[in-house]
Formats: sequence, C-alpha cells, structure tokens
Amino acid sequence: MEGKPSVSSVHWFRKGLRLHDNPALLAALRGANSVRCVYILDPWFAASSSGGVNRWRFLLQSLEDLDSSLRKLNSRLFVVRGQPADVFPKLFKEWGVSRLTFEYDSEPFGKERDAVIMKLAKEAGVEVIVENSHTLYDSDRVIELNGHSPPLTYKRFQAIISRMELPRRLAPSVTRQQMEACRAEIKRNHDETYGVPSLEELGFHSENKGPAIWPGGETEALARLDRHLERKAWVANYERPRMSANSLLASPTGLSPYLRFGCLSCRLFYYRLQELYQKVKKNSPPPLSLYGQLLWREFFYTAATNNPKFDQMEGNPICVQIPWDKNPKALAKWTEGKTGFPWIDAIMTQLRQEGWIHHLARHAVACFLTRGDLWNSWECGVKVFDELLLDADFSVNAGSWMWLSCSAFFQQFFHCYCPVGFGRRTDPSGDYVKRYLPVLKAFPSRYIYEPWSAPESVQKEAKCIIGIDYPKPIVNHAEASRMNIERMKQTYQQLSHYRGLCILASVPSSVEDLGGPITDSSHNPAEAAPKQSLCNADSPKRKLEGSEEASHVKVRVRSVPVMRRPENDF
Ligand SMILES: Cc1cc2nc3c(=O)[nH]c(=O)nc-3n(C[C@H](O)[C@H](O)[C@H](O)COP(=O)(O)OP(=O)(O)OC[C@H]3O[C@@H](n4cnc5c(N)ncnc54)[C@H](O)[C@@H]3O)c2cc1C
Repeated sequence: MEGKPSVSSVHWFRKGLRLHDNPALLAALRGANSVRCVYILDPWFAASSSGGVNRWRFLLQSLEDLDSSLRKLNSRLFVVRGQPADVFPKLFKEWGVSRLTFEYDSEPFGKERDAVIMKLAKEAGVEVIVENSHTLYDSDRVIELNGHSPPLTYKRFQAIISRMELPRRLAPSVTRQQMEACRAEIKRNHDETYGVPSLEELGFHSENKGPAIWPGGETEALARLDRHLERKAWVANYERPRMSANSLLASPTGLSPYLRFGCLSCRLFYYRLQELYQKVKKNSPPPLSLYGQLLWREFFYTAATNNPKFDQMEGNPICVQIPWDKNPKALAKWTEGKTGFPWIDAIMTQLRQEGWIHHLARHAVACFLTRGDLWNSWECGVKVFDELLLDADFSVNAGSWMWLSCSAFFQQFFHCYCPVGFGRRTDPSGDYVKRYLPVLKAFPSRYIYEPWSAPESVQKEAKCIIGIDYPKPIVNHAEASRMNIERMKQTYQQLSHYRGLCILASVPSSVEDLGGPITDSSHNPAEAAPKQSLCNADSPKRKLEGSEEASHVKVRVRSVPVMRRPENDF
C-alpha cells in the first residue's frame, strides 16, 4: 500500500521574524514530516550593504530571539550563509526539500529575488507557498477596487478600504506539539554551521556600542505592544498625543522597527487596538482613525507596490520632476549633523547614534534638506535614512520623503518648518539639543537654537566659539526658504499650467511667517505640533483632493530659473 508522500518543508524567514501570526510558517508545518526554519544571510556583503550597524544589530538580536523561541519548541533556526539563489539549490538536494514557504514581499528587490527562487524551486520540483502577512490588506485588491491604479490620496485610500472586508484574522501561534511532530535533525555542530553570527563576524566594530536602546526581536515587540496599548488605554479617547520634548526620545512603546522587521504582526496590532477600543468604548464600532498610523503604512505600501521606481524621481510616474540642486557639500553637512542649526544637527546625531527619530523630527530634517533650505533632492535623504533608520522601509521611507518634499501626494509647499522656531517651541529648555550636541551644553537656553546670535562673551563663557567649536549656519534660513518657496511655486505653476489646473490660486504672494512647524493634519495622527496655517478654504490641497488622482502626472519642469543661493554663513 502506498503511504502519503513525505513532506520536507523549509520556511524561509526574511521579514516576518516571528512565530505569532505567521501563516506561511503554519503552511510549512501542515502535514509535514520535517520542517526547517531558515534565514539566509551573506556575511561577506553585510558590512558593505546599505544598512548601518544599528540595523544589523537589531536584525541579529531578532534572529537570536527567534532561535531561542524555536528552541523552546524543540527546534532551531538555521542561519545559512550565502546568497539565496546559490544556497537554495544546494539545500533542496541536501535536505530533500519538497515544500518552500515564505511571506509575500512587495518591494521591487524582493519580488525579483522571489521570482528567481520560485523558478529554481520549480526546476527542483519543490512546491512553493507564499502568504501575505506583512500588510493588513492585499495591496493588489485595493488597486483593483480603485480602478486598477493605486489611490494617491489618503482620503481615497480610506474610502476604498472602508468598502473592503476587515483584515484577515490572526493565524494561531505555532505550538510545541506542532513543531515536535515535524522536528528536523539538529546536528551537534549546529551553532558552528548555522548559528546566528556576531556583528564582528559581519565586519562591524561593536566595541563602543552600549546596550541597544531598541533591542530586536519578537519577545521585545510583544512586550512593547502591551505597553503601547496600556498607554493608549490611558489616553482612552484617542486624542492626538501632544508632541513634547519627551516624545523626541526613544520610547519603550515605539513599534516601528518591530513592524518593519515583522517581529510584530500588523494584524495583531490592529486587532488588539480594536479589542481595546471595544473595552473602553463599549459597543460603538471603532472609527478608521483608530488605526491611523497603521493605515498610513498601508497607504504607502499600496502606492509603491507596482512602482519599482518609487524611490527615484526619474521614471517615477507619481513624482513631480523638480530641478533640485546637486550640492554634495551641503548634503554631507546635513548627513553628519554639521549644518550649524542645533535643532537639525541634534536630530541627525540622534538618528546616527540610535537609529530612530520622532516623526516630526523626520519632518524637520526632511524639509530642511529639500524644499526648506538646502534644495537637495529627496532621493539623497531617502538613502541616508535607508542607511541609518532601524525602521527604514522602502515604501514608507520613499513615500514620506516624496510627501515632505512636495514631490507627490501634494503637500502645501508654501508652508515650511523653521529650523530655529520649531525646536524652540518643542523643547524650550534645549535639553534635547544639549543631550545630542554636548559641545553646546553650556549655552543658555535663550541662544541654544541660534548660538551664532549669542554675544562673544556668552560664547566664550560656554566654551564654544561659533565657527570654531561648532559650525556657523549653513544658510540664512529666512532667505533660503523664501527663495525655495518661490522655486517650488514656479514648478507648480508650470505643472498647473500644463494640466490646466488652477492649483495656485490661493498661494500667498508673500510669506509672512515661515516659523511655524506646519504639518498636514490628515497625516500621521502623532502630528500634534503647533499649527499655524496659511491655508484658506480654497487651499491648493483641498482643490487637489477634489480633483483627486487626475492631478498626479509625470511632468518635467526644466525651465525654472536657478536662483543664486546666498553664499555667506553668518
Ligand atoms: C521623511 C520620513 C521618512 C519616514 N521613513 C519611515 C520608514 O522608513 N519606516 C517607517 O516605518 N516609518 C517611516 N516614517 C513614518 C514615521 O515617522 C514612523 O513610522 C514613526 O515615527 C514611527 O514611530 P513609532 O514607532 O512611535 O510609531 P507609532 O506612532 O507608534 O506608529 C505605529 C506604526 O505605524 C506606522 N506609522 C506611523 N506613522 C506613520 C506614517 N506617517 N507613515 C507611515 N507609517 C506610519 C509605523 O509602522 C509605526 O511603527 C517616515 C516619516 C518621514 C516624515
């Protein structure tokens, strides 16, 4: 009598570094005789990859945590060294693999890689099962419902998903019993062959690194989720949390790196939020705004999913072609936190040291680099964030940069963050700046955001002479932002002319106040910075929202006169 064919599965972890709500892992277990959990990593290319040391550390900690959770289920993680396309054909043979499972990856690089692996699997007669669990909704379905193009305003996106079914229910967590039923052989030398490498093994120097402020892993993610929800319950009525000096610092309830690596399932987050709402508000159905942050993530994922040029200006159909300057010196100063604006430099220092900065701090530095002050392309900012952020994410990062630089999704370009006033309003004491720029720690708070304006005697007393111990400001903000708003206005005027739209009718002819940290309130609910709107009821944004997707066009604006940048530091 013929028995059932034996199933030997490999579950391939990439993102989705968790055991909870992992449908692809469950698919690997279903009816299998043996299951191996694999992560593929190329140690020879790690140090030269785009990710910085903080993100690598986060990844390695997440893998260690995964391995330790698998041990509790009497299994282990196999960290295989090499490139997926080289490694898989060997593993298929060596382990007699008949089934490969993994989570769907919508990023262009991921899609390409997975297509290659699926082809190799087919050639080797290996069944492939792919499950979608990195996003709440199936982006392709959202696009289909929007007439086969991605919704490009958040409002429209919300309208589409409100017509869809709720996100798929959570997959049950893997149990010890399930895992033991298909336990693969673990060799004695497992740690030497398949152990999680150290940072040193990957070519990083970690001697000077203190304990991680953001420890990686599913265990930490779940603990954070509990704390996050406790805080939410305390806020109970889901008001926007106000931005304060404290919110600038890494928080033990922050979740973004955990969602990025999939240590935390976005669906678990979604359903826990729903549960909490129902507890607090009893029988009323939760509004979509409850899931605001998660939905912004979905919005960018959907916008990016079929657009391999999403992180570039050229060839990106949703990106306005703006004639940015190429200014590598200014870019380097911004990157290294040496612009001479303490607010900007402190944020960039925090980013480099810790790998995370607050949402509005991201606004501040993104605006400064692009349309606010330095007129550098947003693509440069994407690359720097991609290297330094723990939560760096192809879709959310590029989407947010396009947004902030007025390159897509229509921001109000005549609003601009002041690199002095924004910081002063957020943290009048200047403690945040002093923490990340100790060279300025003896400056009186009064001068902390514009130390160049302090009298010489104050600078001497603070033992910090501007221009020697700390740089002079890289631009005159008032002049630079005025000039840049004018350039942006011309770009949009041409765009408007091209499309026959009247989008500039209400742009103020003079910019009276460039000091307010203006944000788009429909954006992240965490944005609660003081708002000073120059926008009236006919604002370009409203008009554009009315005209919806029609206004997103590929237009190259070449003839905007290049204006002279003020050369002096002062
Ligand atoms: C220029 C710029 C670049 C950004 N790059 C990234 C990035 O690469 N990766 C990333 O996850 N977020 C990015 N963001 C969005 C946002 O700043 C971070 O998600 C947020 O600061 C994370 O903090 P938190 O964990 O406290 O999130 P919470 O406020 O607790 O939110 C929970 C989750 O919701 C999602 N989320 C929250 N706000 C947004 C938003 N505005 N857009 C999209 N998703 C959101 C994130 O996944 C986050 O983890 C960027 C924002 C800007 C302005």
